[in-house]
Amino acid sequence: MNLFPPLALAVLAASVPDAYDTVIIDENVQPVSFDCDIAAVSANTYSIRRAYEICAAFRHRRIPVVLGGNHPSIMYDEASAHADAVVVGDGEGMWEHLLADFEANRLQPLYHSERWSFDQLIMPRRDLLSRSYRFSSLETVRGCPFDCDFCSVTRFHGAASRWKPLAHIEKELKDLTGRTLFIVDDNIIGAGQESGQRARKLFELLGSYRVKWMAQASINIADDPEVLRTARDNGCRFFFIGFESLNPEVLKSLNKRLNFRRKDTPCRDIVKRIHDQGISIMGSFIVGTDYDTPETIRALGEFIADSSIDIPNVTVLTPYPGTRVYDRLRREGRLFNDKFWLMDPVPLFTFAPSMITVAEMRTTLLEMTERHAGIFQGMKSFLKTMQYTHSLSIASFSLAERLMNTRTARDRLLSDAHASDGPASQPV
Ligand code: SF4
Repeated sequence: MNLFPPLALAVLAASVPDAYDTVIIDENVQPVSFDCDIAAVSANTYSIRRAYEICAAFRHRRIPVVLGGNHPSIMYDEASAHADAVVVGDGEGMWEHLLADFEANRLQPLYHSERWSFDQLIMPRRDLLSRSYRFSSLETVRGCPFDCDFCSVTRFHGAASRWKPLAHIEKELKDLTGRTLFIVDDNIIGAGQESGQRARKLFELLGSYRVKWMAQASINIADDPEVLRTARDNGCRFFFIGFESLNPEVLKSLNKRLNFRRKDTPCRDIVKRIHDQGISIMGSFIVGTDYDTPETIRALGEFIADSSIDIPNVTVLTPYPGTRVYDRLRREGRLFNDKFWLMDPVPLFTFAPSMITVAEMRTTLLEMTERHAGIFQGMKSFLKTMQYTHSLSIASFSLAERLMNTRTARDRLLSDAHASDGPASQPV
């Protein structure tokens, strides 16, 4: 079952002038239909190959297509070959202008939009989203100040945190039907003195509507026990935290500045601070950097098994376009395929790190996932989560997510066995 619905589509649908009938086709839950005068397709790097196929199907039927989202905004030259118009940046402020051009038969190939200010209230058209998702979704901020080298959020959304006014969030909370929320913000806490105060007010607001919620945050969410306590008292189930690595050299090489600056505060301490307030943790780690060897990956596996991270999430470093990691590896001629996102399937391994081969990395990661997917580790983790959170529902949820995460990772490693073994991989 999919976790949460594509909120961005509901926001864009709400931005379309009232004179138009708008429907959302969500391919997670329904087939694409072609009963429309103009189509808009939103895609990230993982879904862009499929998005291009869908664009071709609309254009084959002579239905104009507008393409937007993270990937087309960064790779607009590539995207413009597949669509009648590409929207670069936030889409909210663009529709009136774009649809006027469409009506006048003068659709432009490229629309650059300004960064959207949340001062204007847009009530997402959640009524157009499928109700088959497990959670509802909510956005409270866009942008991230940390600008990590492997992430395109700062480039796409900016370094300033654009907070949505609490009054607007409250209107959305009144409109929500689901009582469990995934907060889609890339970083709910941001940085700076105001961020903690703002976070506490936001958490209290969420609590006043009696929703249960989970969110992504940088490690500074653990700086102030009062922030964590307010989160827990107001419905927080878990935080997704990007630890990325136990090795300070890796943090430095990825420009994970905040974590590097806190290198003397081990992951274990941050985990403890969050657990002490009764909140569970999905902890994310990246492997496949130039500092990784089979031994460092095994050591990470040991750390995860011994630590109390409730839901481990180990990912392979992927050079997304628009990131400095991508630019560097491409400049160094190390990518197996410069446009790996057009391959089918999209490969898990896109370049060879210096100190480990792809085959070694796959084998070592498979060993790790087999261990974490096991019943013994699962039960141990469940009991620890119970101990910290005193909540059967949080522990059950964490266990289910842990098992699903590790099994998905294992399936991906197995299915990817022939897709990404190096330069001889499938060409586009
Ligand atoms: S802290 Fe997270 S959201 Fe922000 S730039 Fe780094 S990886 Fe991206």
